[in-house]
Amino acid sequence: MIAAIQSAELGADTLILEKMDRPGRKLRITGKGRCNLTNVAPLSEFITHFGPNGRFLRQAFSRFFTAELIAFLEKMGVQTVVERGGRVFPASGEAQEVTDALVRRARDQGVTLHTGSKAERLLIEGKRVVGVQLSPSSFRTGESNSVRQIYRAASVIIATGGVSYPATGSTGDGYRLAKSAGHTIVPVRPALVPLETAGDIATRLQGLSLRNVTARVWVSGKKQTEAMGEMLFTDFGLSGPIILSLSRHVVDTLRLGRKVVFSIDLKPALEDRKLDARLLRDLDEKGKQNFRTLLKGLLPGKLIPVCIDYTGISPDKMGHQITASERKRLRTWLKDFRLDITGYRPFTEAIITAGGVDTQEVDPRTMASRLVKGLYFAGEVLDVEADTGGYNLQAAFSTGWVAGQQCGSASSPGI
Ligand SMILES: Cc1cc2nc3c(=O)[nH]c(=O)nc-3n(C[C@H](O)[C@H](O)[C@H](O)COP(=O)(O)OP(=O)(O)OC[C@H]3O[C@@H](n4cnc5c(N)ncnc54)[C@H](O)[C@@H]3O)c2cc1C
Repeated sequence: MIAAIQSAELGADTLILEKMDRPGRKLRITGKGRCNLTNVAPLSEFITHFGPNGRFLRQAFSRFFTAELIAFLEKMGVQTVVERGGRVFPASGEAQEVTDALVRRARDQGVTLHTGSKAERLLIEGKRVVGVQLSPSSFRTGESNSVRQIYRAASVIIATGGVSYPATGSTGDGYRLAKSAGHTIVPVRPALVPLETAGDIATRLQGLSLRNVTARVWVSGKKQTEAMGEMLFTDFGLSGPIILSLSRHVVDTLRLGRKVVFSIDLKPALEDRKLDARLLRDLDEKGKQNFRTLLKGLLPGKLIPVCIDYTGISPDKMGHQITASERKRLRTWLKDFRLDITGYRPFTEAIITAGGVDTQEVDPRTMASRLVKGLYFAGEVLDVEADTGGYNLQAAFSTGWVAGQQCGSASSPGI
């Protein structure tokens, strides 16, 4: 939508083909319905949230970044607020407001919007795109009688998203279209995705949310990475902000068949000596309480039976009877609660898609295909993906803006 707005603003005759019954279905559910639009982190830090492919976005960000996006939204009447961690949301707290504003702005700029219109095939003559063919069902069910089977255009922007949450319309069509133009598709994988764990621990802890814990990822006995914050136990395993972030490092490792173990530090603020002093104090002050009762001061209720199982300390043992080696076992578990990761959830539950159109075949200054003239890419269809925090939407907005600018300034009809 931002690409279309930009291209129309520069005078190009612009058409959006949207295969769903309305545009922006995914946008509406972002940020739990509140739409985390972007992040105010400085560019140097922002880029690090994308991993190695972040470099590709540098030029797009240098032209249209956080400040430009916020100003663009405010011009359309969408006020924004900055929240914890630099995350930017619409002040109304409604993702719907953003979608509505984009649709309104596109219409005001004279963009034609055809919903129920699935782009099926790129029309390419020589090394130049000349239009798009719709799927047969589209021009039968499209919203307007004017929907045709073939649209000729001098520029086509593929902004079809990834393959995550396919019910929102992103079902990976863009990869097929790009491939037909000769583009390489880096294999797609679910990213920012919940993880599955071995055994019944997660089921026993289902619904438990832990704040201020550190999760460390161990691969074949070596620590790979860690994150601190909030996590959640589900019926199949782990979810919540830090798990989704860490999943970006885990999915590829699991796909290589390597063993991944999570180590949860339940007391990250207390290093071993301080934690021991705290335990000694508790056991001394509450020496006449049994272990199970004592744990209430240390852990959420659901974790108590799990702690008892892992440490092997009798729940009925009195505080003053707990030995130094038992205390050490407890300390070790509190700092290093281990869970074997056995898999990850499917695309239907993945916030984003890793992989996609190979960025080496796309000009980072314009988002133009290096293989076919007049063809552009924007958003998640590209092989770029980031952490949660507003980075993914900013990437979609920035690449869309750049592609739209380019098509608009070529002043040719675009799709
Ligand atoms: C639950 C959830 C929450 C999220 N929250 C956030 C967040 O708060 N902040 C953030 O930065 N990111 C968030 N994301 C990620 C973000 O939504 C995506 O990265 C972003 O929407 C990608 O934008 P896009 O325009 O490339 O693709 P999409 O938003 O997927 O849009 C692609 C559009 O193309 C249409 N389309 C597909 N194929 C065709 C075709 N053949 N013909 C015609 N139309 C077609 C689709 O119907 C769709 O409308 C979230 C994702 C999910 C699933």
